[in-house]
Amino acid sequence: MAYRHTPKLDFPLKGYAVDALDFGERGVYAGTDWGVHLGEDVLRRGGTKVYSAGRGKVVYSELHPGSKEKGNWGNVIIIAHKNPKNGKAFFSLYGHLGERFKEKGDRVEIREAIGVVGKANTPENGWWDEEHLHFSIYTGPWEGKVLPGYFKSGQKRTKLSFWKDPSNYIRKYGD
Ligand SMILES: [Zn+2]
Repeated sequence: MAYRHTPKLDFPLKGYAVDALDFGERGVYAGTDWGVHLGEDVLRRGGTKVYSAGRGKVVYSELHPGSKEKGNWGNVIIIAHKNPKNGKAFFSLYGHLGERFKEKGDRVEIREAIGVVGKANTPENGWWDEEHLHFSIYTGPWEGKVLPGYFKSGQKRTKLSFWKDPSNYIRKYGD
């Protein structure tokens, strides 16, 4: 698949700063251990606009509704990118969106609005108490499926080395 070149990256929210679960921390909610967090959580009010971190192509845009019984992604978007310097593909992921403005196949530009943060305890935010964006950078192979938000050792679903600290990745990109 030919992905679009992504010359620059920027943060997906205005004033982006990790103020909830950080990359690499363990997510434990109501006694359930979800594993190692593969992204960064940033708290924002429902309805706050979320922007594409870079030029690319939407490869996944679906609702994975959460319920009171089991939290989930809610609305999730995955954008494919390609680093023009090394020709390598990578992906940015945006979870717990209240609305998705983009569908699979759409081309997006850097800082283009792709959705909004979801309201707490709705199927769209995946039924979490905290209104937040989950943002990840994935550099492994992509098989057309939604990507996980957590990693548990022993799981074959993904490898920790495929996942990058999003804030560091964005700051270093293009250096
Ligand atoms: Zn998260």
